[in-house]
Formats: sequence, structure tokens, C-alpha cells
Amino acid sequence: MKINPNIQELKPSATLAINEKVKTLRSQGVPVVHFGFGQSPFPIYDDIVTALKKEAANNNYLPSLGLMELREAISNYLRKWHDLNYAADTIFIGPGSKELLYQTILILEGTFLIPQGSWVSYLPQIKARGGDFVILPTKADSDYKLDAVTLASYCQSNPEMQKSVILNSPNNPTGAVYTSKELEGLAGVCREYGLIVLSDEIYSRISFNSATAPSIASYYPERTFIFSGISKIFSAGGYRCGFMAIPQDLVHLRSSFQSLFSETFSAVASPVQYAALTAFRGSDGLDAYIKRNAEILNLIGTYVYKELSAAGILCTKPQGAFYMMVNFSPFQQKLNGLNLDSSESLASYFLDQLGVALLPGSDFYFPTEKPIFRLAFVDFMGADWPREAGAEEGVAAIKKYSPKIVEGVAKLVAFCKS
Ligand code: PLP
Repeated sequence: MKINPNIQELKPSATLAINEKVKTLRSQGVPVVHFGFGQSPFPIYDDIVTALKKEAANNNYLPSLGLMELREAISNYLRKWHDLNYAADTIFIGPGSKELLYQTILILEGTFLIPQGSWVSYLPQIKARGGDFVILPTKADSDYKLDAVTLASYCQSNPEMQKSVILNSPNNPTGAVYTSKELEGLAGVCREYGLIVLSDEIYSRISFNSATAPSIASYYPERTFIFSGISKIFSAGGYRCGFMAIPQDLVHLRSSFQSLFSETFSAVASPVQYAALTAFRGSDGLDAYIKRNAEILNLIGTYVYKELSAAGILCTKPQGAFYMMVNFSPFQQKLNGLNLDSSESLASYFLDQLGVALLPGSDFYFPTEKPIFRLAFVDFMGADWPREAGAEEGVAAIKKYSPKIVEGVAKLVAFCKS
């Protein structure tokens, strides 16, 4: 049987392989610290669950672009939290931001630019539609953030074709957050060369230095598409609901999205859209909940960063989301002794020998021979943590409420010291 060669070329990612292996080991009773899995550790806020239950009997198909009340609520949400003006008719709802990104990639022609140190799914999505792509280099000393000079020099050498750059802040896999100044610099280059920006802001309110991470849309509204949803900020990944916002200047694209949505997923489940409505309308209680969750993640991320850095591992400093990159290059000699020359085989080694799951950097566009990994610090039950800020903080609290984090860190430190 012949299948689409673009699909045939896709391989299961190393991420999937590690996650499967962790599941198998755990089902056999083998203790594993799972630094591989990127799911919010917190329960969904009660009001959102209640809204979902209330609409459980709702069997209506909703409009393909989404429930108008929800699109209006997201328009207000973007204004309130990000000071951005995206009218409801430029906001579309889909079954996760991942699907919306894929549909956008299907619609857009040209070359997609991915900074090295980006989310695993961007490239397979581009490959699945047979699209062109370029991985743009980034540097460790700027936490693998794309800089304006690199972007400009690529655009100077390739002025002709249509280009879309994918930015993600707060970032998966690095935990880095672009500053307003950095985004302003990138926006200047984007404007000069007419770039389209696909801005993945799925972690926008899991930001440790401010209530929300800055958005490039503040500096380049005319060509920035925003992607977000309820998976991370509202801890509802399994509900499968995301949104995208397109620039007012490109509102004519709406009919292409509407057609593609209606011919593929039809519409997001009605009860889920009502649950999302409660999330985006927000309340004081929900805002406080999200803030506290971000504080807990900050506490844990800072702890992991400090401990591993003190042991000599090169880490990106998490400033948002729940990830960081950890680079074992200072231990290259020791790694050479293991005769493992790829981040995939080292990740397998860490899992088998230390009981610690990390994801290989090769899944995030780093060279396979570089001993760099993504560490997700969410192997704990968020519900165990006290809700009041400052109630119990510090290492004692991390030990009490997130013992696996402490255990995993200790194992990695012991490996480096042994
Ligand atoms: N973008 C990034 C950077 C992510 O980490 C994820 C999920 O892991 C997504 C997008 C997809 O989120 P959704 O659940 O909205 O499809």
C-alpha cells in the first residue's frame, strides 16, 4: 500500500519512546522520576469542571470557528492580561492549540523558521504538509532565544520567499521568557522583511517575573498570529481546547480557516467550550489559583536550577512554563567512558541506570551528539501543595510536597559526582 511520503517520513519522536518506557517500568513497579512529561501537575479549578458538567447534555454542534461568547471572552481576556486588541471575529477555537497551529501551517505557503530549542511538534507538522523549514541557530548564553541579528541575517540572505517564524515564550523546552526589549528587536526585523509571526503563547501566565509574559503582538500586531488555550494555564490539557487570534489586517483569511475547520474537526465539543468560557471569563479565585500555581512552579524550578548548576550541569534558568534544558557537556569525559554518543542513547541510559527520565535534546532541534536534555519539573501532585502563598516554602516544602523532584535531582547530582 502506498502512503503519503510526507507522513511516511515522520518517525515516532524520542519523547514518545521515553514516555512509553516510563509507563512500562512503572507498571512493573520500578520507581522512576519522570522529568520527561510536560503536563500541568495541578487539578482543574472547580468552577471550570462545574461548567463542563453543567453542559454535559449539550449535544449541539457549535459553529466551526467556535462559540461566539467564548470568542468574545477571549478577546476581553487578551485585552485584560496582555493589553492586546484582537476582536472576537479574529479569534477561532479549535481542539487544542496544536491542531490550530497545524491548520495554520497547512494554510500558509513559504518557509517556516524554527529557532533551535523549540517545541518538538513544530517540525513534524511542517513536514506532514511537505513544507520548507529552516532551523535558526541560538546560543546557550541567551538561553537559546532567537536574537534579532540572527533573524535579520537569515532574512537578508533569503529576501524573496514568504517566511513565517515560530516563537514560543515562555518556552518549551528551555523555560526562557523573551523580554519586551528582545521582542521589540525581533518585531523590527519582522516588519522590515514582512515576516509572519506564529506566536505560541500557551504558557503566557506561567511566568515567574510578571503576571504574564510579554507578547510580540504588542510590537508587531499587523502580522502576528497568537496561539494559546486552556491546557497549561488552566491545567486542562485533556479537554482539548485552544484558540488562535489572527491579525485584523489579515481577517480575510477567516474564510479559509472556517472552511478547513468545518471539513476537518467540525467544531470543538460543546461542553468543553462552555468550560473554556468559565476559564477565560475568569474570577478573583481563579486568578489567585493561577498565580499560586506559578509561584509553586517557580519555587521548584529555581530549586532544580540551583542544585544542578551547583553540581556543574549547565542549565537554562526557568523563568516560566515548567521546563529547563540541562547540558552535561562539562562531564563529556565521563560520558565518553559510557560509549554512548547520542542524547537519545544517554536518555535511555539515565532511565535504565538512574531511574530518571529526561528527553533528548535532539527532539528539540539540538545536534544529537550534544549531551543536552529537556527536564520537566512537574513530577508531583499540585493538589498536595498548600494554597496560601508563603505558607510553607523552601526546600523543606519541596521535599514534603514534591519528593520525586528532590530524588531525581539527587540522582543526577550523584551521577555527576560519582
Ligand atoms: N505549544 C507548546 C509549546 C506546548 O508545550 C504544547 C503542549 O505541550 C502545545 C503547544 C499544545 O497545546 P494544546 O494542548 O493546546 O494543543
